[in-house]
Amino acid sequence: GAQVEWKDFTKSEVYMADLESGLHYLLRVELATHKTLEGEELKIFKDFVTVVAKLFPGRQSVVKLLETLLEWLVSLPLEKIPYDAILDLVNNKMRISGLYLSDRVQWVGCQGSSVALRGYPCSLWTLFHVLTVQAAGRPDALANTGLEEDPLAVLQTMRRYIGTFFGCQECGKHFEEMALESLNQVKSVDEAVLWLWRKHNQVNARLAGSMSEDPMFPKTLWPTPDLCPSCHEEQEGLHVWNEQMVLVFLKQHFGALNISPRYTS
Ligand code: FAD
Repeated sequence: GAQVEWKDFTKSEVYMADLESGLHYLLRVELATHKTLEGEELKIFKDFVTVVAKLFPGRQSVVKLLETLLEWLVSLPLEKIPYDAILDLVNNKMRISGLYLSDRVQWVGCQGSSVALRGYPCSLWTLFHVLTVQAAGRPDALANTGLEEDPLAVLQTMRRYIGTFFGCQECGKHFEEMALESLNQVKSVDEAVLWLWRKHNQVNARLAGSMSEDPMFPKTLWPTPDLCPSCHEEQEGLHVWNEQMVLVFLKQHFGALNISPRYTS
């Protein structure tokens, strides 16, 4: 496949460029296949925008844009919203100063060895890990949104977004099966962080060696021992996770302070 210039990065950091490129793709490419949003789809999109506007630990210009999009969606008395109106706002044709989401796609931690690999799905996982960690660290962030006091707010929003809008319908089906099976066991925001980690590893295990695996980024159980030695333990010769340490690691790794601004323009 086509090659783009390789960008230096470290696996121990999360990159804002991936998160912003993912949001750009979601809002300007993925959503564009839905010409109008109404009913359940509109509700799902509104909840998604609520969760990111309130929890995304991003740059001011991007957070402001998301907040403006949310205010606009909430205040509209319409039952039907044309996608083009959303696009106008995202593209800032309304010329409200200080709002901006770049339309330059820059994959860093999510770059692939060919353009067909990694990128957007990688950024979406990353975004939702970041959001579950934010929800666990900022209990009041969703106040007055209708989503407060629900430890499942982020995961349910992710589940519905993936099931309705994510271009990979097969992925949506798989994710829905996992959610049906065990999401109701999640009782706290910390358990939500761990649930998403566990399910992501389940997906990695299923996809190891498949077509969607980038040979330069083999699917493994994550975090690998080099990233988090204390996450791994051995009991009677078998590998076990130390979930308490995994939680500590996830909160650090996907925490706002570990998001590098490198390569953002
Ligand atoms: P990804 O799996 O995308 O992971 C991105 C980054 O997250 C990794 O580089 C690593 O830093 C980190 N990470 C890895 N594992 C974990 C973990 N357990 N917890 C926290 N962080 C972790 N593709 C299919 O072919 N079939 C499917 O059914 C399918 N289902 C999907 C469901 C969802 C909800 C999503 C978002 C994607 C799905 N995909 C599916 C795509 C697939 O999971 C990968 O995103 C894609 O193949 C790119 O893989 P990647 O190597 O970039 O790593």
